[in-house]
Amino acid sequence: MKLHEYQSKQIFGRFGIPTPQGILAENATEARNAAREIGLPVVIKAQVLVGGRGKAGGVKVAHTLEEVEEKAEHILALTIKGLPVRKVLVDPAADIQSEIYLGVVIDRARRRAVLMASAAGGVDIEEVAATTPEKIVRAPIDPFIGLPDYLARDVAVAIGLPREHWGDFVKIAKGLAAAFVANDASLAEINPLAIVSADGGAKLLALDGKMVIDDNALFRHPELAAMRDPDEESEAERKARNADLSFVSLDGNIGCLVNGAGLAMATLDIIQHFGGKPANFLDVAGGARADKVAAALRIVLSDPKVKVVMFNIFGGITRCDEVARGIVQAMEEVKPKVPMVARITGTNQEEGDRILASANLITATSAAEAAQKAVELARLN
Ligand code: GDP
Ligand code: MN
Repeated sequence: MKLHEYQSKQIFGRFGIPTPQGILAENATEARNAAREIGLPVVIKAQVLVGGRGKAGGVKVAHTLEEVEEKAEHILALTIKGLPVRKVLVDPAADIQSEIYLGVVIDRARRRAVLMASAAGGVDIEEVAATTPEKIVRAPIDPFIGLPDYLARDVAVAIGLPREHWGDFVKIAKGLAAAFVANDASLAEINPLAIVSADGGAKLLALDGKMVIDDNALFRHPELAAMRDPDEESEAERKARNADLSFVSLDGNIGCLVNGAGLAMATLDIIQHFGGKPANFLDVAGGARADKVAAALRIVLSDPKVKVVMFNIFGGITRCDEVARGIVQAMEEVKPKVPMVARITGTNQEEGDRILASANLITATSAAEAAQKAVELARLN
């Protein structure tokens, strides 16, 4: 689950990271009042759950209250990468001298979190990684020791940070690592961590903030779960989450309904192997009952891209007759207009076959056969 910039910066603040003290606004008048309270100039920032807001015109500095209203109005009318801007953050504008990237991510190969930093901040870190990877410095974070001062200081030196900022950089890096762990994040990022002018000198300030929380850990962070923005997910993804189904929307046209994440992954591979493109990943999980299967089928069929549906069910704990009943029930309700191919094998298979015989679908005895038939039907329809 992604958090908004203002939410991430609130969390960062609690971990000792200096951030601007901004105010959230939902319309131009609120933005104006916020700016009056904060003092001019301010920066007005679209709160949408995508990166690159600056490039899309979603971040603007304003010097007068009229300008604040005008720019807030304009930003609140934007749709950035498909997401409508519903709120803006009004922050005191900073006088930026340079921009640093600082992030904590999971490094799967090292099996731990790593701190990443670069003097080439402000822009897309993906672009830096692709074009000038030598500009990114990494420090592994030991799960038991955390991020020790000396490692954080090594990073500050390696990115060429002026010595006067090393002390603050160490505090910020350690705060970010601690926020990452304490909130079960999969990403915690400050881009830019800016060197800004302050009282004749300069200091570090986290001007942007981004956090992604591991969905599987949300049960122990109810205060974070409550921050979920419904715009983050598609309608289908929201329905799937409410029905307790693992669902990921993909670009292809073969809808997949599978029990077990491993089998679902394998099914996507098999479809690709035979030249097809899956429309989604969907795991109805072990022991799925008829109503859950029906909910899953409705979700898959609600995608207009889907030209054929493939069931790949292995009945272990899940019983084939239950799944068959779910399919029949869902077909009666939804009346699908696309062909369906089913490979259902395992516990109570005979009973399942008997139930499915009355339904209008194509059966297959192996996953390969089902995938080939689905790919062929997707091509024809
Ligand atoms: P993003 O584009 O979605 O990552 O949004 P950011 O919050 O990173 O803002 C984009 C860019 O706007 C930053 O890299 C800065 O260059 C600029 N920016 C953000 N805040 C301020 C500010 O207070 N003053 C000035 N002058 N520029 C800012
Ligand atoms: Mn940014």
